[in-house]
Amino acid sequence: MTELSIDSSTHLVDFHCHLDLYPDHMELIAECDRERVATLAVTTTPKAWPRNRELAASSSQVLVALGLHPQLVAEREDEISLFERLALETRYIGEVGLDAGPRFYRSFSAQERVFERVLRVCAEQGEKILSVHSIRAATKVLSHIEQYLPRERGKVVLHWFTGTSIEASRAVELGCYFSINSEMLRSPRHRAMVAQLPTDRLLTETDGPFIMRKGGPIRPVDVISTVAELAVNNRTSEQDMRQVILSNFTSLIAG
Ligand code: MN
Repeated sequence: MTELSIDSSTHLVDFHCHLDLYPDHMELIAECDRERVATLAVTTTPKAWPRNRELAASSSQVLVALGLHPQLVAEREDEISLFERLALETRYIGEVGLDAGPRFYRSFSAQERVFERVLRVCAEQGEKILSVHSIRAATKVLSHIEQYLPRERGKVVLHWFTGTSIEASRAVELGCYFSINSEMLRSPRHRAMVAQLPTDRLLTETDGPFIMRKGGPIRPVDVISTVAELAVNNRTSEQDMRQVILSNFTSLIAG
């Protein structure tokens, strides 16, 4: 089990970052520890799990998640068996989910098979926390969660959620959290959807290195600007928003 020694000095939360896709993976872990950014290091294939876990083993802030990215399912569907074997080793699962965007739609039935097995193994083992991708597939993702992962068997964080406001309400009813990144807050429609979410379900993320900021790919420490943007969007102070995110993160991982 990966355990986080989260304490009152934790400052920020990046609940979805691909640390292993940066050239300076080790330096990023050190940066998260130094700057006290609690970070969920998601992975895209179960083959990346052992190395990620090893590198973050002595970190006080980095949690590592076991993943099988929907965009890789076309070539890697058979890795679901490895995923199932490794699932007992961690409480954190991600990146998993469904992607019905034009580039990945062809593998959609395979993605559904994989996601069902992911949810079933999580339900069986219990107490997992999942970071879930749902591009153009929010309704399908929510139906899968409803069908295969009973609320008392696991917690879901919807990452970069861009569903409709109706889909967002359904996700809230299902108990989902939402990790918000800076790109989401650029769209007026998504800003309005985010403002409608219950404050106690909000988390922040970078989805680095897939989002760029001035000078290169976004890093976990950069969530500080997302906290500020989220505060403006939700009409509260930056300080209050930062506290809310920290307290949501604490209750999420508390059990
Ligand atoms: Mn991602």
